[in-house]
Amino acid sequence: MAARSTHVFRRSLAGDMPRAVAGQGVVITDDTGRRYLDACGGAAVTCLGYGDAEVAEAVRAQTARLAYVHTSFFTSDAEEALADELAAHAPPGLSHAMILTGGSEAVEAALKLARQVALERGQPGRRHVVARRQSYHGSTLGALAVGGNAVRRGMYEPLLAPVQHIAPCYAYRERAEDENEEAYGRRAADELEEAIRRLGPDSVLAFIAEPVVGATLGAVAAAPGYFRRIREICDRNGVILILDEVMCGMGRCGTLYACEQEGVVPDIVVMAKGLGAGYQPVGALLAHDSLWQAVRDGSGVLHHGQTYMGHPVACAAALAVQRAIRERGLLARVRAMGAALDERLQERFGNHPHVGDIRGRGLLQAIELVEDRTTKRPFDPSLKLHARIKRLAMAEGLLCYPMGGTVDGRQGDHVVLAPAYVVTEDDLDAIAERLGRAVDKAISEARAA
Ligand code: PMP
Repeated sequence: MAARSTHVFRRSLAGDMPRAVAGQGVVITDDTGRRYLDACGGAAVTCLGYGDAEVAEAVRAQTARLAYVHTSFFTSDAEEALADELAAHAPPGLSHAMILTGGSEAVEAALKLARQVALERGQPGRRHVVARRQSYHGSTLGALAVGGNAVRRGMYEPLLAPVQHIAPCYAYRERAEDENEEAYGRRAADELEEAIRRLGPDSVLAFIAEPVVGATLGAVAAAPGYFRRIREICDRNGVILILDEVMCGMGRCGTLYACEQEGVVPDIVVMAKGLGAGYQPVGALLAHDSLWQAVRDGSGVLHHGQTYMGHPVACAAALAVQRAIRERGLLARVRAMGAALDERLQERFGNHPHVGDIRGRGLLQAIELVEDRTTKRPFDPSLKLHARIKRLAMAEGLLCYPMGGTVDGRQGDHVVLAPAYVVTEDDLDAIAERLGRAVDKAISEARAA
């Protein structure tokens, strides 16, 4: 595409990109009239689809009534109502919400809250955060430091606070042949105990993980029992458990919170993408009542603040989205369409010589590409198979979310699918068909390169 001049500091400065002008349902239209079927909701964001009239009206009405107040002076109806809505439908005990403007900010706030709570509890020595390799928690320096995405950390390593990373729970590649799923889950979780022992139990502040790893590993849920074991280890050692549900939460995996399927309640849950469905930039954390009480009974002051926290318009949008998910019965729809998507992927890729694994939950699913299915050997990373798939899918009029580095941050390729909850069976047929063609063409192209 010939480059038009731009003053936007884009992600890629090479070449041009299409200009989106409209969105309706699961379709985006560009300024040439070309239509794209969005099979990844941007990045698992647009869970209601584009052009939702009810949410648009909620945003308009709140903007007209009260666009902004600073949270050091006022609370607002919108902020209170959103916090009520979140607390009412959250796992038990998660009672107090902090509303921010995105996932990275919410992760930062969670890490800082954990530290403040340790101080309120008279545990100033607690300072180490343990996280997992092959994870992503955001792009700001604190969130990037806990993330285990090698490529995204890359050049910023010298600026990142030291964090202990343990293994992810990634059965496809890390479960031993003679190990069942539960035994593998236990072994993977026990790495946390080992890390805590190494660091000194009284020095560990928090453990952070994605219940279903999103973009970095490609829709990987943990082995059964893994998170229950993690919860036990955190409890035994006084470590705050932070679950990052920015990508997998708010219904994406078929339950409002992904951790409901693990049978655990974290101390802090972080959410963003599906919270506002793209209608406003919004993220949030929900803290367990015991953390809130520690602050109330301690200093009584939250040592974290941002100009746009609790933003009324962001809250109004998120509230409208969360009500829509509940009142339109979209969780049941995610489960039904998730099963239908899995079926389509199994049909198209189940016997594909270069698809090693098909996985995910609800409408967060992925295929992992391999050169060899038996040995699980990945493609040569220099072929950039994932980038080829993205480009060729777009040429087919399909938006999907391919990434490289699945195996170790460098090798491996996968494609994430995360369509809006309003996706239809016909859309799913088109997604499987177009993705199938893009994958096949990308592999032929890579072979010829
Ligand atoms: N955590 C997870 C699990 C994510 O997927 C993302 C975004 N991809 C973030 C945090 C960061 O969110 P944001 O990009 O809104 O800052």
